Amino acid sequence: MQRQSQPIQFMHNPEPGSLPEDTGEFLRRLGGPTLIVVDGRDNRRCRAVATLLHGNEPSGVKALLKWLRSGERPAVKLICLIASVQTALHETLFCHRQIPGQRDMNRCFSPPFDDHQGHIARHFMELLQQYQPEALLDIHNTSGMSPGFGVVTCESPVHEALVSLFTRRMIVTELRLGALMELSSEHLPVVTIECGGAKQPQADQLAEEGLQRYLFNTDVLQPAEGLVMDLYRDAVRLQLSADCHIAFAEQPVAGADLTVPFDVEKFNFGVIPALTRLGWLGPRGMSVFRVQSAQGEAVMPHYFLSRGAGLYSAQQLKLFMITTNPAIAISDCLLYACADIELNQVIDKATKLPFE
Ligand SMILES: [Zn+2]
Repeated sequence: MQRQSQPIQFMHNPEPGSLPEDTGEFLRRLGGPTLIVVDGRDNRRCRAVATLLHGNEPSGVKALLKWLRSGERPAVKLICLIASVQTALHETLFCHRQIPGQRDMNRCFSPPFDDHQGHIARHFMELLQQYQPEALLDIHNTSGMSPGFGVVTCESPVHEALVSLFTRRMIVTELRLGALMELSSEHLPVVTIECGGAKQPQADQLAEEGLQRYLFNTDVLQPAEGLVMDLYRDAVRLQLSADCHIAFAEQPVAGADLTVPFDVEKFNFGVIPALTRLGWLGPRGMSVFRVQSAQGEAVMPHYFLSRGAGLYSAQQLKLFMITTNPAIAISDCLLYACADIELNQVIDKATKLPFE
């Protein structure tokens, strides 16, 4: 039986001078999902990077191209998957997360593998088997403005060490959606790095600096001595009902079920005290929300409450992945919240709070 041709093409040790400076031009030359293999100083070991699983998240591929053009040899062999090349090139460059009608590439790493995205996922999993990398980083951008952070499906010193190449903020998620990081195992630790918003120059810089450490450090699996991560565990999601009319504005919008000020993004990864106002409610009040734990329990009153027409935090919370995109707020969630706040952070925050 003839084997169907595999969807991921290969590029071995590309000549630095042959690569264009422009990321769009680079992607046009690749044309499709590509595994770039670069020999290191020690080729008995290998590390892996995946990026551009989402076509509108360019920081990872920009950082990779910049490094490839430098010609600097990594510490160990490196394999880099540049996944959704066609998605990134679809219509306007870096505009689509996925091509309309196709599956989200980062939801395809569990069966079934029966469409184009599934074939790419399965092929990459075979390549990981073949190359046996000691770690895998999956580099993304957030949909809104945000500082960088890491996401892991299990908490261990190895995962902390990998995330800390980029940032101290680390979210431990219980959700299982078919994301690449869910392949994480004792033999292959996988972490997701969210560099920040695609349009934030700091996100490109974070991707570059973290990638440099991953490429050139002899050891990336041992946490630095005294490393303390800013951990986000047991997060709940503030979900809106499908018919909720959400508005983003500086004052309550008539007819909206929820109005959220644009600057709500300033709460990303900060600690907010109880009774911080997050928005204004319409006549349907809190009935347009659901707050669920990863186990699916309804836990709203512990996290949020209404006073008058305001929506407030019910206790001290850490918020993250806050979106000001109404489509994402409705289809996914408005924000994530953690009540689990480590003491050192509370003290740190308290000393900075104005008490006058
Ligand atoms: Zn992404």
